[in-house]
Amino acid sequence: MRYIIYVFILTCNLIGAQNLRVGLFRASELKKLSIQLSNSEVQLQADQLQFIFQLNQEFKIAASGNELILDVGDQHLGKFKKLKFIQPINQTVTIDCIYPDLKELVYKGNIELSAFKGEINLINITDESNYLAGVLKGEAGKNKPNSFYETMAIVSRTYMKYYEGRHQKEGYSICDQTHCQVYKGFTNYQPWADAVLSTEGIVLKNQDSNSYSEAVFHSNCGGMTASAKSVWRNDIPVCKVTNDPYCASGRHAEWQKKISKDEFKRIAGFSNVNFNNDSLCGLITFCHSGDRPEEIQLDNKVISAPKMRSMFSLRSAWFDLECESDSIIFIGKGYGHGVGLCQEGAIGMAELNKSYLDILKFYFREAIIVDEKLNKVLYGQLGDLATSP
Ligand SMILES: [Zn+2]
Ligand SMILES: [Zn+2]
Repeated sequence: MRYIIYVFILTCNLIGAQNLRVGLFRASELKKLSIQLSNSEVQLQADQLQFIFQLNQEFKIAASGNELILDVGDQHLGKFKKLKFIQPINQTVTIDCIYPDLKELVYKGNIELSAFKGEINLINITDESNYLAGVLKGEAGKNKPNSFYETMAIVSRTYMKYYEGRHQKEGYSICDQTHCQVYKGFTNYQPWADAVLSTEGIVLKNQDSNSYSEAVFHSNCGGMTASAKSVWRNDIPVCKVTNDPYCASGRHAEWQKKISKDEFKRIAGFSNVNFNNDSLCGLITFCHSGDRPEEIQLDNKVISAPKMRSMFSLRSAWFDLECESDSIIFIGKGYGHGVGLCQEGAIGMAELNKSYLDILKFYFREAIIVDEKLNKVLYGQLGDLATSP
């Protein structure tokens, strides 16, 4: 093995412009993984030691209590509290989670590892544009119109800025799961990178202040977006209920789910009550807010539609019921929480040659769209900045 090792005190900022800390594989309890480097020289900081590897290497790392056991090839390098792989800006590393066994992913930027109670804390330190392209990889799919990708780049950038720092206590800024935004690491799919670059600096802001909007999105609203208050009990000022004709032909516009009446009673908490299956559907009534159901009364229980969605693992909170002799069929519209940007509606608009501004104005009509790089308002009014609606 060829590497150089020397002791040094960290005094310089080796991260440079790459400063967004993204927690990786946060849905899994990582205990063992391998890291393969693609370039010929990489720095590894291992506590107070620094190694420089001059050949491609595979590193195996396992958590042991609050320490990391590091092996390179066949050689055991020791136990460390913190490891940091620092690679040149255009190089990538491949991370293969061994326990649990997960699909390997490729990352640009630096990789930092620590351990806590036998689990690996894995962080990718990268720049905003690389992160956003990886979010489009996770959230936008391939072969869609460019203005949809531009819309998603702006929404994801805004969402990132709104939530940046929410995981500060855990040592990173934002996670790679749906809790924040799905981030799938490096991509060489050019339309995603192009959309991030061509919209650089553009964000959504709230009307009453300079704050970033909570720019939430979902797959398909079913024909009318939902109010944030109905889903999360707090309002999001830029997410107004909008009739959406553009998502009707989307893949997730409609759905059905059939379950037995016995299963329905078990999930609804009626197991101990001897409801007759023939009369069960007569005990269910819907209270609507517009077209969407707001609450569902199950005998003497009142359950909100989003809660019902969660209880029965439904695609959306917009549904009706049909009864058969032994089963109940949920007949629903849309996929996701329904608040903010409807992705399949945005794709429908993009296919009609609508621009990202048209799409954003449609779903976030009360937002201000700002180009922070040019210090210019693209839509709406904000403070002292010039307005060009
Ligand atoms: Zn998160
Ligand atoms: Zn929609």
